[in-house]
Amino acid sequence: MVLANSALLPTFARLDLAFERGEGPWLYTASGERYLDFVSGIAVNVVGHAHPHLAAALKAQADKLWHTSNLFKIPEGERLASRLTSASFADTVFFTNSGAEALECAIKMARKYHAANGQPERYRLITFEGAFHGRTLATIAAGGQKKYLEGFGPKVEGFDQVPFADHAALQAAIGPETAGILIEPIQGEGGVRVVPSQCLRGLRDLCDQHGLLLIFDEVQTGIGRTGNLFSYERSGIAPDIMALAKGIGGGFPMGACLATIEAGKGMVAGSHGSTFGGNPLAMAVGNAVLDLVLAEGFLQQVGLLSLIARQRLAEIKDMYPNVIDAVRGEGLMLGIKTHVANSEVVSALLRQNMLAVGAGDNVVRLLPPLNIDEATLSEGLNRIERACADIDADIKAKLIGGTKA
Ligand SMILES: *Cc1c(COP(=O)(O)O)cnc(C)c1O
Repeated sequence: MVLANSALLPTFARLDLAFERGEGPWLYTASGERYLDFVSGIAVNVVGHAHPHLAAALKAQADKLWHTSNLFKIPEGERLASRLTSASFADTVFFTNSGAEALECAIKMARKYHAANGQPERYRLITFEGAFHGRTLATIAAGGQKKYLEGFGPKVEGFDQVPFADHAALQAAIGPETAGILIEPIQGEGGVRVVPSQCLRGLRDLCDQHGLLLIFDEVQTGIGRTGNLFSYERSGIAPDIMALAKGIGGGFPMGACLATIEAGKGMVAGSHGSTFGGNPLAMAVGNAVLDLVLAEGFLQQVGLLSLIARQRLAEIKDMYPNVIDAVRGEGLMLGIKTHVANSEVVSALLRQNMLAVGAGDNVVRLLPPLNIDEATLSEGLNRIERACADIDADIKAKLIGGTKA
């Protein structure tokens, strides 16, 4: 039976727009129409579409071996884990297929850590309003958003949510059952809300004082998106556990949970698992992504592009104060808070053949590939300016129309 015009479960409000191929920051429809992509699959395609180094790594692995299961050693995974730990605070890695699964591993690990310490009653995690951690039963409970929880039965126990940036509420939420604090260093879906570095340091101190684990959800911020390999680096402190996904596979579905040896000490043979996690295809692509992102000068270039983009966006904001309220973000994870509905700006950009994605707090997210060249970045910023000009003209036409009537 065919329902409506699609056999897909209608959980996504999709645009009537499909692409046939991509090249760097560009996407092409079957009829050859070209779009400038500042969505990047929601911060996933860190080196754009169809990058030859990634495609070659995937094809080479596809000709050798696809899948063996975690019953056996996977050399590409050993290598990727050791590269990720060398480049971070972490000592150990668990590979997953998605961000939510990386968070599930992080949540289980935090609970198991205290159980291994003889305090199984410490299983609760403090989370923040506006957070997004995924769509599994535990991660919707962690995110605490009513619209994602409603109708799905009892909420998974063990998450205490406090308002964003409310220090008193945070202090008050710590109790004898608290296991740790879970936070995105920059809220992505919540609207590109940057947690200031001094707050991240404050969280570290609080965790150290109370014997809590600090868990960073860097699913969106990780792998160079913010101009550092990981967003925690800017603060000078490190978490105990970190969830990654999105950019780590450059478009191949994968995620990872990284941890210190101490935080991971409860996780022993049999305590967690995944059939597909760390599969050779994913690991080959993950290594290829790191070849590019860790290359000399790559992250510095992200910082430079960020400066260019932010400066230009500030100018556009001054030109169209009716449209843009504020510009925020780090690296190439940028948000424009708008006065008009953010969806109106996304639509105006679409009319300029440019893709951007909305977020909470009435923000339009700009997530270009990290290796975009300066000229194409400027082209994107021109299109943003034109979209703002269109909206501004509309607002003024309405005002004049209003006076006449
Ligand atoms: C996207 C996202 C997730 C969920 O990742 P999935 O791969 O969709 O499960 C979790 N946390 C953050 C911060 C994200 O941006």
